[in-house]
Amino acid sequence: MYPNVQLFINGQWCAALSGRTIPVVNPATHQTIGTVAFAEQADLDRALEAAEAGFKVWRQVSAFDRSKVLRKAAQLLRERAESIAQLLTQEQGKPLMEAKMEVMGGADTIEWFAEEGKRTYGRVIPARMPGVNQLVVKEPVGPVAAFTPWNFPINQAVRKISAALSTGCSVIIKAAEETPASPAELVRVFADAGVPAGVLNLVYGDPATISSYLIPHPVIRKISFTGSTPIGKQLAGLAGLHMKRATMELGGHAPVLIFDDADITAAAKTMSFMKLRNAGQVCISPTRFLVQEGVYQQFVDQFVANVQAVKVGDGMDPDTKMSTLANPRRQQAMTTMVEDARKHGGHVVTGGYPIGEKGNFFEPTVITELENTAQAMNGEPFGPMAIINPFKTFDEAVTEANRLPYGLAAYAWTRSAQTATAVAAQVETGMMTINHLGLALPEVPFGGVKDSGYGSEGGTEAMDPYLVSKFVTQATL
Ligand code: NAD
Repeated sequence: MYPNVQLFINGQWCAALSGRTIPVVNPATHQTIGTVAFAEQADLDRALEAAEAGFKVWRQVSAFDRSKVLRKAAQLLRERAESIAQLLTQEQGKPLMEAKMEVMGGADTIEWFAEEGKRTYGRVIPARMPGVNQLVVKEPVGPVAAFTPWNFPINQAVRKISAALSTGCSVIIKAAEETPASPAELVRVFADAGVPAGVLNLVYGDPATISSYLIPHPVIRKISFTGSTPIGKQLAGLAGLHMKRATMELGGHAPVLIFDDADITAAAKTMSFMKLRNAGQVCISPTRFLVQEGVYQQFVDQFVANVQAVKVGDGMDPDTKMSTLANPRRQQAMTTMVEDARKHGGHVVTGGYPIGEKGNFFEPTVITELENTAQAMNGEPFGPMAIINPFKTFDEAVTEANRLPYGLAAYAWTRSAQTATAVAAQVETGMMTINHLGLALPEVPFGGVKDSGYGSEGGTEAMDPYLVSKFVTQATL
């Protein structure tokens, strides 16, 4: 049963003060499955008050004890993974197996941050005279406002919450209104694990109204946003205006460089799987495939065959390998991009159309030889679309990889250590994975460069934005 999702403020599940709710729709069936509470300013004021008080409590809890609470949350999330995955699939669409992996991966993330929180070391700087101690102390930055999208409702939220809680910050998270139940269950595991009232608060409502109220508010000391580049730039601008720290995990348009000496079968198999994961609604989804001439046709043939073999259906069906898009906006965007691609020389080798009357399904789509001027060569498809173009030389491929303002993830396939080293050095990207899929683990950095944002949401780098370095120098009298 899908719930009517409430706000979580000061340790209590509650309706919005106005009583207002909005519907939640299953993207595979277009049926309304529940509602979500819609917060307005009075609710946000309550959340701010709670986060301010919660911070005072939580920052006093030792890193050791915070870690215990977080580890308990990870355990509860694992125990509840099956039922949370069912909610996630109903609201977001992705196949149940992917939903379950997302929830289980969330537990790994919490656990990793639980451990890393114990290691937020400061340092001692040798003084110029005896009797003086010079200390650098790491302190939590303060209450955090976090904004997360609908494509990975658990994964995006858990990274921000875990980093904040492990460092002693409190949080107000605005999760996506389209996929509210799974992040609410995530918040519930933290509450049930013993996170004190006010430390973690959850709201939903109008995204622009909430961010424009929370970001400038004096209680909030840091923001973290995952979503599109245009919105990220707006929020980063607002954060800058009010001197708030910001982490921005934004859009991408990942290039995949496949060289003549690559293992083509492995590349086609691995990359077709990665392309269709979450129906392509992944910020690190491989999109621009650049394949060296000698293996171009072989790669296209194998990739297309793999894509055509994928069973598309409702995510609740255990046989489904790719499901619906999460909302009608994406289905429309895909249709527009394919039409535009046909006008820009692209050959639609497979797919290209919506599927059926019900849901937001779209065919796995492969387009070859598309001109750089096409929409899909410049904007993120955020759907099940791969574009495959040939290249002759290394330099030509790297130039194309770096052509766009994005720089989130990049992929490469080659058997040459020299080519691998050169491609890793020359592609402008926050993350590069060569000859396998190795991104997005909790212990490794996750973030982009250029218009893909700044800051990291994984690895030790993810702790820094939630900590301030306080310098203390003390002389013995
Ligand atoms: P969108 O850009 O309006 O929204 C993206 C996310 O940002 C949503 O979760 C939304 O609730 C939130 N958002 C929008 N305006 C906001 C504001 N003013 N303040 C705070 N949050 C705000 O559009 P969309 O149709 O939901 O998605 C379109 C594009 O966004 C996609 O094509 C993709 O490029 C990008 N996107 C990226 C990610 C990612 O993981 N980086 C996730 C979701 C969407």
